[in-house]
Formats: sequence, C-alpha cells, structure tokens
Amino acid sequence: MSSISLQGLRHVYANGHVGLSDVDLDVHDGEFLALLGPSGSGKTTLLRSIAGFVQPEAGTLRFGGKPVSGPGVWIPPEKRNLGMVFQDHAIWPHWSVARNVGYPLRLAGVARREAEVRVRSVLGLVGLDGLGDRAPAALSGGQRQRVALARAIAGAPQALLLDEALSSLDEPLRARLRLDLKALTSEQGLTSVHVTHDRAEALALADRVAVLRAGRIEQVGTPQDLVRHPASAFVASFVNDAVLLEGTWAEGCFEIAEGLSIPGARLEAGPCLGPDGLGQTALAVTAAVSPLDLVLHPHIGDGGSGRTRAGVVTSSLYGPHGFGVSADWEGRTLRAHVTGWAPRPGDRVVPEVLRARVFASQTAGTAASHPELVPA
Ligand code: ADP
Ligand code: MG
Repeated sequence: MSSISLQGLRHVYANGHVGLSDVDLDVHDGEFLALLGPSGSGKTTLLRSIAGFVQPEAGTLRFGGKPVSGPGVWIPPEKRNLGMVFQDHAIWPHWSVARNVGYPLRLAGVARREAEVRVRSVLGLVGLDGLGDRAPAALSGGQRQRVALARAIAGAPQALLLDEALSSLDEPLRARLRLDLKALTSEQGLTSVHVTHDRAEALALADRVAVLRAGRIEQVGTPQDLVRHPASAFVASFVNDAVLLEGTWAEGCFEIAEGLSIPGARLEAGPCLGPDGLGQTALAVTAAVSPLDLVLHPHIGDGGSGRTRAGVVTSSLYGPHGFGVSADWEGRTLRAHVTGWAPRPGDRVVPEVLRARVFASQTAGTAASHPELVPA
C-alpha cells in the first residue's frame, strides 16, 4: 500500500513564515494528486515534508498507514523510498545518462547486472530508449527532465514527488512530457504528488487536485468538482478564472449594481453560506462567474437591451474555440468566452450571467457581521 496520509501537519519557518498550518490530506494508493496554489502558498513545504527534508513541528504523516513523522517518530528521507523530480533536473553533467539513472540503484546496493537491466527498462518507460551512453549535455531540456524522471522511478519508489517538474520546459515539449507522465504513472500504478502553480496542468493531469492558500488546503476534489463546485471565491477565481462580483442578496435576486442583477434561479449557494443557503435576509455576498457562464451580447441601439447597461470590450483574443474577451463594465472587469461573433476592442456589450456561485462576501459584511453565514 502506497497511500500517503497527512493529519494536522504544521510548519512555521524560523523567520516566522507559515509554511503549513493544520493540513489534512489523503493521497490514495496509485492516485495522481496535484498540489495547486499561488507562489508562497506552501506547496514546496508540503512536498518536502512528505519527502522528509522538512520536519513539521506538529501533525502526523503516514505511508500505507504507518507513521513516518509525528510524535516520537522520525524516518529520515533516505529511508522513505520516494522518487523526486524538481524543476531544475539536478542530474550530474559529467556522468552518462545511464550512470545518472542507475545512481539510486548503486546506493541501494543492487547488483550491477540487475541494475543495468532496470536502467534500460526505465529509459524505455520515459522514452529515452538507447540514449544511455549519451552525456546530459548532448540532450534537449525535455530529454534531461526525462532522465531525472527515470532516475526518480529507477528504484521502484513507493511514491513519486514532483515539484514544478515541467515548469522549465517550453511547449510543445511540455505538453508531450505531461502526456507521457500521465501514462507512465497510471500504467505503473505510481502514487504521485505533483506540485504546480499552473492550473491547466493540474486540471489536465490529476485524479484530484488540492488547492493551497497561505499554508492551508482550501479544497480537495476532482478537476470537475473544482471547476463546477468551487468551495470558495478564491478557488473559483484561481482555478477557473472566475470573475468575482460583490453585491447584495435580497428578495430572491442578486443585485450587483443598478442595471446588473442575477435572478435567484441562476445562483448556487457556496458551502460557506451554510445549510440554508441563501435565505431571505439582505446580505453582502460575492458571486463567482466563470468566463464560460458569462455571455456578452452585442449592444444594439439603446432600447434593445432592457435595463442592463452596456460595457465596453477592452481586449479580445482569438483562440480555436472562441474569443477570450475582457470588458469593462461600470469599473469592473468582466471576462467571458465568446463564440458566435467576433468582438473587437471598443465594442459595446451587454453582459448576461447564466450561472453564478455565491459566497459570503470577502470584503465588507463578512461572516463576522453575518453570524448566519458561519457553517454549522
Ligand atoms: P510555494 O512552493 O507554494 O511557492 P513554499 O512552500 O516555498 O511555497 O513557501 C511557503 C511559505 O514559507 C512562504 O511564505 C515562503 O516565503 C516561506 N518559506 C519557504 N521556504 C522557506 C525557508 N527555507 N525559510 C523561510 N521561509 C520559507
Ligand atoms: Mg515551490
């Protein structure tokens, strides 16, 4: 069993920076989990805690149910049997590819013959068949990262830990290695934790994604969960590029400002609003609107658009599946995915929200001033 379980993991650096605060997380046996979050959110600290390079000051870490770090327990990194790949591949430039890949096997005392067979086999797995005699300098950046990956899996680790392992590569190499990494880990049934700040990469690769913010896990879920049912306004905006609109909930309607409101039937209450969801009381709330759920209609004349006021397109970027459009609407920036017509900067548009998820307001009128918003 190669599950990884973290309970109440906490780490504060000597300079007072919070690395992790009370992190609970279960990575299942054979699962590919992505750790996603902005810079400084604690992704590397979490990964290094699993690896044993950071010793958390509280909490328990278990591999396959067995504690490796916790009260009275400390298994050092070299005894944890993990494979690691970093952004900077850190392979020895003066060693051949095969020697680099075989290094963990030599350390483990694996017989030479057996090690050679294993090295050939993992070079095949990462798409470097026949390149064992090459010097790293004679490889492309993507190939060098494959060497690092081969070295990480050579010793049949119980889990693979990747810290921004693809971030230094350019497209299309990166997309290629992403696909291969996904195929390799699922064929080998490797439990993997992949740190990235790139949401598209996390959503594309992972069975589940854990979103970190300021040392805490804000949400763990499948990519579909995070996109369709974000647990907070932060997750909606970080994972799905949602526009966050402040407004007031009253009388069955969400009023953003005069001239832009969202009917209650198009709203979903986020979990922080508690079991009763949106009650009848007037509340300051934040609506998160995905660019896919915001329609920008071309503004025709003055009377055609009802009472919704028009906004102005500020940028419009063509893509194979439509235009990525930003528009200024009464001082707010709206983002929408537009198909069916070609907006240009300066065009006047009328926004329509098809669906929004509503959270307790992050600014004025937070949960503190609305005790009814605090989850039971
Ligand atoms: P991420 O990988 O998500 O960018 P990190 O885990 O590196 O985040 O950092 C989390 C927090 O801990 C940040 O505030 C960062 O400044 C701090 N931090 C990270 N490493 C150290 C360190 N070695 N010493 C002091 N503070 C650190
Ligand atoms: Mg990091």
